[in-house]
Amino acid sequence: AKEDDRRHVAVFESFMSQRVDQHVSIESGLRQAIAQNQLNVLYQPQIDVASGRITAMEALIRWRHPTLGTISPLDFIPVAEQTGSIIPISQWLLRTACQDMLRWPGGSESGTRLAVNLSPVQLEHADFVKDTLRILHEVGFPPHRLEFEITEHLLMRDLESVVTILRKLSAHGITFAVDDFGTGYSSLSYLQRLPIHTLKIDQSFVRSLQEGREEGHLVGAIVSMGRSLGLKIVAEGVETQAQLDMLRRLKCNEMQGYLFSRPQAALDLSGEAVERWRS
Ligand code: C2E
Ligand code: CA
Ligand code: CA
Ligand code: CA
Repeated sequence: AKEDDRRHVAVFESFMSQRVDQHVSIESGLRQAIAQNQLNVLYQPQIDVASGRITAMEALIRWRHPTLGTISPLDFIPVAEQTGSIIPISQWLLRTACQDMLRWPGGSESGTRLAVNLSPVQLEHADFVKDTLRILHEVGFPPHRLEFEITEHLLMRDLESVVTILRKLSAHGITFAVDDFGTGYSSLSYLQRLPIHTLKIDQSFVRSLQEGREEGHLVGAIVSMGRSLGLKIVAEGVETQAQLDMLRRLKCNEMQGYLFSRPQAALDLSGEAVERWRS
C-alpha cells in the first residue's frame, strides 16, 4: 500500500506539473494566437424541427495550438478571462463570425441569426457596447441578426449594470439568450428585467429526459413558462431521435445538437448535414 501511495503521489505530481506547463503555454500562446492565425470558428445550427428551417447558427471558437493540438474553449477561455486576452479574442470572433454569416449562401434571405457566446468579463469592459456596435457597422452585419448568449452566472454579479448594458444593445436590435438555462440561478425575476429573447434548455435536462430520470415535468414547465413570457425555447445537446420525439411532445420545437449537425467550419455550412434540415 505504501508503494502504491508513493506511485500515486508521483503520478499526481507529474500530472500537476504538466497542467502547470500547459497553463503557462496557454497563457503565453494566447497572446500570439490571433496574429498567428491559430483561432478558428465552427458553427452549429439551431433547427426549427416543425419546418426544418435553420433559425440560428451558434459560433463556437477553437484554438489550433502548434504543439498542444486543438484546445477546447473550456480550457482556454478561463485563462483568456484571467489575462484579459478574452477582449481581443472575442472581438476577433465577432468580426469573423459576422463575415462568415454574410458569406453563407442562404443565410441572409432566410434571416438566420448568429448566436455568439458572451463572457462576463466582456461586460465589465468599459467599451463593450461601443466596440460591439462598431464591429457590426464595419462589417455591415444587421444588429437584429445577432444574438448574444449569456449564462445565469453573469446575473449573480451586478444585475443593475448588466441591465443597463443589455438594454443599450437591445435598443439597436441585438437579442439575448440565456445559455445553460436551469443550471445556475435560483430566482427567475431577472427574466422580466432583462431583454431576454430565448431560453436554451441545458443539455443535462435533455439527457436526463431520455434516461428516464426526468419524466418531462421539468422540461415541460420550462417550455410553458417560457411561452407565457413570450420567449423562444431551444433545447441543447440533442443527440437522439428519442430525445427529439420527447421534446416535440413537450412542445419544444427548436433544437441544437449532434443529431442535426456537429459544429462545422464555415466552408462546410452548406454541407449535407445542414442541407437536410433546410427547407
Ligand atoms: P455552450 O455555449 O454551452 O456550447 C455548447 C457546447 O456543447 C459546445 O461545446 C458544443 O460543441 C457542444 N455540443 C453541441 N451539441 C452537442 C451534443 O449533441 N452533445 C454534446 N455532448 N455536446 C454538444 P464547445 O464548442 O466545446 O464549447 C464549450 C463551451 O465553451 C461553450 O458551451 C461556451 O460556454 C464556451 N465557448 C465556446 N465558444 C466560445 C466563445 O467564442 N466565447 C466564449 N466566451 N465562450 C465560448
Ligand atoms: Ca452557448
Ligand atoms: Ca449551452
Ligand atoms: Ca455550457
